[in-house]
Amino acid sequence: MTEPEQNNFATDAVRAGYLRTQENEHSEAIFATSSFVFDNAAQAADRFKNNAPGNVYSRFTNPTVRAFEQRLAVLEGGQSCIATSSGMSAIMATCVALLDAGEHVLASTGLFGSTAQFFKKYLTRMGNPVDFAQIDDPQDWREKITPETRMLFVETPSNPLTQIADISALAQIANDNNALLVVDNCFCTPALQRPLELGAHIVVHSATKFIDGQGRCVGGAVVGDKKLVGEDVLGFLRTAGPTMSPFNAWVFLKGLETLDLRMQRHCQSAFEIAQWLEQHPAVSKVYYPGLAGHPQHELCARQQSGFGGIVSFEVAGGQDDAWRVLDSTQMLSITANLGDTKTTITHPATTTHGRLSDADREQAGINASLLRIAVGLEGVEDIKADLLRGLKQIS
Ligand SMILES: *Cc1c(COP(=O)(O)O)cnc(C)c1O
Repeated sequence: MTEPEQNNFATDAVRAGYLRTQENEHSEAIFATSSFVFDNAAQAADRFKNNAPGNVYSRFTNPTVRAFEQRLAVLEGGQSCIATSSGMSAIMATCVALLDAGEHVLASTGLFGSTAQFFKKYLTRMGNPVDFAQIDDPQDWREKITPETRMLFVETPSNPLTQIADISALAQIANDNNALLVVDNCFCTPALQRPLELGAHIVVHSATKFIDGQGRCVGGAVVGDKKLVGEDVLGFLRTAGPTMSPFNAWVFLKGLETLDLRMQRHCQSAFEIAQWLEQHPAVSKVYYPGLAGHPQHELCARQQSGFGGIVSFEVAGGQDDAWRVLDSTQMLSITANLGDTKTTITHPATTTHGRLSDADREQAGINASLLRIAVGLEGVEDIKADLLRGLKQIS
């Protein structure tokens, strides 16, 4: 029996979606098998023709992967979820499965670097032109829509400046123009934001980040309705093959079980650190949507149930001063990854955004004094003390 949905987020995150086997295991089993056997020729024929339910091959379905998919579908409030080998393959599968040649994509500014690169370098080459609209300005989206626009793609909050897109407003624009709204919900997870309830058609995830939450595995997922995701995206995935491994699915299942708790702590600590940074004389600007001075604070408070774990800030000074804060840390991990128990610190202008031209970087609002931290689950006083080592060297 699959455990029934309880409609309580924390409960579903722990229990939804799993079909216990006849061994009565308590923790979910890892089905480390590439293929499945049939009782007889007729059953094999039926399963290959898709006339009967049941497993065939782990590129198509696997019970551990299915458990992760069903649990995440419940948490996002979607009819179908398809797990993928990475967040990028979730985005690729969504685009390749749902776009015809010539159809136009309108994406938000401030996208994850590989997503922007995939759009500009590959999707365009496959015959899908891509344009970019201001994440926080719905009017700009309306103006850039063309008759060929089939997909709006947004990531909110944006990285690293935590700008917020109005998901309901973009869903309305998508509906008015017969297009789909795809939301990358990696930064919030369904614990903080449920884009499908706000009108988005599809949610994509990098499970690598907060869903795992402990920096162990790479994976992704696409969530949406039965037709778009359960048929179209699945159809592409079973044919093209960027599927999730059963072991990784098991790790992500365990990640979902603690997601609600972890996200609460990420938010609480990030808020405390943002407030503390705002008061520090060596900090000239703090980007965190939980702060009353953030330009989309109200929208974020409406749209999200927590303000997230990412805080960016500018030090008073230039690149040398930003690097000094980063290099003076002894505990924080110097890495561009995020969504881990361990707090990470990065200098976007020379890492994640280092390949942009100076003009593009300036337009994106990312200057040399900016640092981004993804606040982990250590004691918040220790995180502050580690940042203070460098901050107090800045006059
Ligand atoms: C990391 C990330 C991705 C890509 O996910 P991978 O699992 O690394 O392929 C996509 N979107 C956002 C917002 C990310 O942070």
